[in-house]
Amino acid sequence: MGYMDNEHLNNLRHSCAHLLAKAVLELYPEAHNAIGPSIENGFYQDFDLGETKISENDLPKIEKKMLEILPTWKHFEFKEITIEAAREVFKHNPYKVELAEEFAAGGNKLTTNNPGNFLDLCKMGHVENPSKELQHFKLLSIAGAYWRGSEKNQMLTRIYGTCWPSKEELKKYLIMLEEAKRRDHKKLGPELDLFTFSDLIGSGLPLWTPKGTILRNLLDDFVWQLRKIRGYDQVDIPHVTKKDLYEKSGHWDKFKDELYKIQTREGHLLAMKPMNCPHHAQIYARKQWSYRELPQRYANTTKVYRDEQSGELAGISRVISITQDDAHVFCRISQAKDELQKIWEIVHEFYGSFGMKLRLRLSLRDPDKPEKYLGDKENWDKAETILKETAKSNKTAYVEAQGEAAFYAPKLDFIATDSMGREWQVATIQLDISMPESFDLTCINEKGEKERIVMIHAAIMGSVERFLSVLIEHYAGAFPVWLSPVQAIILSISDKQNEYAEKILKELKDNNIRAEMNSDNETLSKKIRSAEMQKIPYLLIVGDKEVAAEAVAVRQRGKTTEREQGGTEISKPNVGDLRQVKIEEFIKKMSKEITSKE
Ligand SMILES: [Zn+2]
Ligand SMILES: [Zn+2]
Repeated sequence: MGYMDNEHLNNLRHSCAHLLAKAVLELYPEAHNAIGPSIENGFYQDFDLGETKISENDLPKIEKKMLEILPTWKHFEFKEITIEAAREVFKHNPYKVELAEEFAAGGNKLTTNNPGNFLDLCKMGHVENPSKELQHFKLLSIAGAYWRGSEKNQMLTRIYGTCWPSKEELKKYLIMLEEAKRRDHKKLGPELDLFTFSDLIGSGLPLWTPKGTILRNLLDDFVWQLRKIRGYDQVDIPHVTKKDLYEKSGHWDKFKDELYKIQTREGHLLAMKPMNCPHHAQIYARKQWSYRELPQRYANTTKVYRDEQSGELAGISRVISITQDDAHVFCRISQAKDELQKIWEIVHEFYGSFGMKLRLRLSLRDPDKPEKYLGDKENWDKAETILKETAKSNKTAYVEAQGEAAFYAPKLDFIATDSMGREWQVATIQLDISMPESFDLTCINEKGEKERIVMIHAAIMGSVERFLSVLIEHYAGAFPVWLSPVQAIILSISDKQNEYAEKILKELKDNNIRAEMNSDNETLSKKIRSAEMQKIPYLLIVGDKEVAAEAVAVRQRGKTTEREQGGTEISKPNVGDLRQVKIEEFIKKMSKEITSKE
């Protein structure tokens, strides 16, 4: 289950955010608390601290205060109040007043809650018995966050924390966090020389190094191979468009403020594409299709651009230039189920190869807000039913998420579990009946009549950058051989073997093995250490014995100790113990490993 599905955990964490607010207000009486929601694995609470600056060094003091207050919190007491009363009660806190006004204006009842002499205003659930249930928490970090997420507003101080039902669960989570820190892609990516950022170019705009590009291309090619055998064709599109395209698709209305716009010399307004669907729809629209020619399946790995707030950008998991391994299938509604099945298989084969388990979420309309969605109710019902049937025919359980659909289509969202048990939303499949409507996409059916088609959106990795951030952490940078940017490195014991090492290097490269050689004037143990830091799967050591035997001594990554794989502990090299392998034999074994994606 995802965190959204667990009401008790949400109540627990949100309640803990109240406790944090109370503690901070006691320690810093000039502070105002804003919002304090539960989030995945924890909660946060935003504060306006006035002139006061706090750092992570202050967290233990705040935790201590929370523990002091906790025994007095027997229960949350709710009281309905009028907006006038709310204005009075929270007159020193402009944030609460703003929320109260807004909440009341929406016709909602205002309730204050009062645990242990602390009046607060919110609309989330709480635990029954805070003094007992809120004992197992920890404050984790501090960040800046704009009020209501807008840079036009005051910058607030956000304190993150976590809270669990038991001491054991808290402990387990904190250990997992430590491990996650060690695997953090923001640290590993540059260490493994996969990507970099430049101040001159800007945050959220990653630059891909040769090694990182190898990784990206291999993943993209894997997806393409899975698509190719299922009848997809590749297409390509420009990165900008006249705004007319988005006016017609409906995106302009919804997203015009989030688009990058370009004013041309002649005064025309162009936009950088934030998605590819309308462009692909125009490729389909280039001619009138007969039903016999359908489905048309267009695949295109290409960048899209989204104007994210700088505070939201994080390593490569959230970027401005996003590469999507996008595809769109244009077909008759009667073909939709078969096409969904093909995509379903691609998704499972792809994620299965990384040992990631998938969980399914069906993202549907918010039935209370039909105005948020394009197209009529009947079509939405049809699309939602087909998606449900796909899940059922694959005997896969799913959770339904009301209100999580895209504004143009319901979706099947796949949520992958990584090697640390963390969940990530990865692939999505959307069955879209509204965009073909906006662009009037049709085919001529058996009766010679125009028939409205449907459009299936099917990204497998979704954002290549975000998927790579997940994958780097999933493997702690120790990629399987087929994906490793450098698959083998030759380490000569002394200069004497360099000529032989060169010969082997050429042989490996001739056999499509990505190999390097380290002929630096260093000790062998230093060379081994540096190769292991790079998490290269095979180290090929050559000394006089190997030269004489036309062989290499093979040292395989992660075969010595479990901990070595993460790079924290390097065992002492013991060349004498290594297995000597003839070079042809090594090449044969590796080639097999690479093709089978072991
Ligand atoms: Zn609350
Ligand atoms: Zn799309």
